[in-house]
Amino acid sequence: MLTYYCPKCWTTIEDIELTCPNCGYDMEEFKRLSYEDKLLVALNHPVPERRMMAAQILGNMRSQRALNEFLKIVTSGNTDYYFLRAVLLATAKINHPDRQLILQKASQHYSTLISNFAIELIEQLEENGSVDEWDRHTG
Ligand SMILES: [Zn+2]
Repeated sequence: MLTYYCPKCWTTIEDIELTCPNCGYDMEEFKRLSYEDKLLVALNHPVPERRMMAAQILGNMRSQRALNEFLKIVTSGNTDYYFLRAVLLATAKINHPDRQLILQKASQHYSTLISNFAIELIEQLEENGSVDEWDRHTG
């Protein structure tokens, strides 16, 4: 059975509900959002796989608007390693001046798993100008 969530407060809801019983969010409003906006919302999804998938797709879309959200995630004290890894890889794919800032912040992350991954991405960008080739080989 599928679980539905309010995209604003992430309370679980019935699929037939038109407004969220918890916060009153209008589900029609969500349906009107662009695909990119829906993905940006999904970066806060309570299910880890959904958050990761949103980050991956935004990176592959080269969504420059995602960089704002990625910066917040990286500096928020989030400790979900797999999600942070997906966010950093997505960041590295988006050619924008903020990319370097986010990767530099992540390279100072208290978790060495995250900081080492960020440093690896920075080095890849310096050497090859993109991480696409490297991503294909590392999976
Ligand atoms: Zn709600």
